[in-house]
Amino acid sequence: MEIPEGRAGVSGEGSRRRVLLAVPRGSCAGVDRAVAAVENALEQYGAPVYVRKQIVHNKYVVRSLERQGAVFVEETAEIPEGSIVVFSAHGVAPSVHDEARRGKLATIDATCPLVTKVHKEAVRFAEEGYDILLIGHEGHEEVIGTMGQAPGRIHLVDGPEDVLKVQVRDASKVAWLSQTTLSVDETVATAVRLGERFPALVSPPSDDICYATQNRQSVVKQIAPASDLLIVVGSKNSSNSVRLVEVGLGHGARAAHLVDFADEIDERWLEGIATIGVTSGASVPEVLVQDVLAWLAERGWDDVQSVHSGTETQQFSLPRELQRTRAELFQTSGSDLPTSLVDEQEASG
Ligand code: SF4
Repeated sequence: MEIPEGRAGVSGEGSRRRVLLAVPRGSCAGVDRAVAAVENALEQYGAPVYVRKQIVHNKYVVRSLERQGAVFVEETAEIPEGSIVVFSAHGVAPSVHDEARRGKLATIDATCPLVTKVHKEAVRFAEEGYDILLIGHEGHEEVIGTMGQAPGRIHLVDGPEDVLKVQVRDASKVAWLSQTTLSVDETVATAVRLGERFPALVSPPSDDICYATQNRQSVVKQIAPASDLLIVVGSKNSSNSVRLVEVGLGHGARAAHLVDFADEIDERWLEGIATIGVTSGASVPEVLVQDVLAWLAERGWDDVQSVHSGTETQQFSLPRELQRTRAELFQTSGSDLPTSLVDEQEASG
């Protein structure tokens, strides 16, 4: 879509107030699946259902699931024996499954299938004897989960400046992978530098940065040059939301801010501006974007123009664990059946 000039800095005083609304935006197939997994588990097995880490990185989603009976914890060690735990969309290391078994927990794995794809690539490369260079952000849950797939074989590369620091066993046997929610441009730049340092570097069989991350960045690149201000709805610990702010600033937005809720928008951001770009990260429910649009409309920004960059049809089915009874869930998780469920299991044969 061609976006006519209109920002205050280009057209001067009197420019028309308008909002450029990014499409696609907001929650992706992996987030929808993870949230539905918790809701479904609560409905099927009853509260409480424990969730290790935030199911997705969004405050609103977490609070709403808490109200329904989900209990969020940082580690499985905090969960009472005989409970059900859901693992978040960001994925976990195999060692976390082992901890859950030792803690006599039944597990439902809501890892996004696109993260699982990266896990499988890591395992395969490690089995074939490669050292794996994982482009990603230190400390991010997805990175911790992916590194745990092949301990000792995966080396984190947190941006181009890490390329010269990384040490491998054999420079002729090196592959790279990436976190799913990175900046596409920065990841390409890092991979190019890795290729210069390791000419035999093997690339992943397909893009690791997921479709949702790529699409949301792509439309922000379209609206940023015309935006005096870019508002990204998303939480500060959401990697893909933070990347949208950076991509916006890198592609011409004069200012960009991340907000969880409309009431975090500062009226001073609106002084002397005409065009506001609005988008949201892949873990954000649409209701929060609509709140922002309503907030802006009350202040005169009621002309909303959608800017499209493709359509999304991706959907993932629920984790198959949810098709099981509570007793079966413990058995397939490899955990001892809680005494309260032994009778139920015997009765079912
Ligand atoms: Fe999956 Fe991408 Fe969504 Fe993460 S952002 S949950 S990888 S689709």
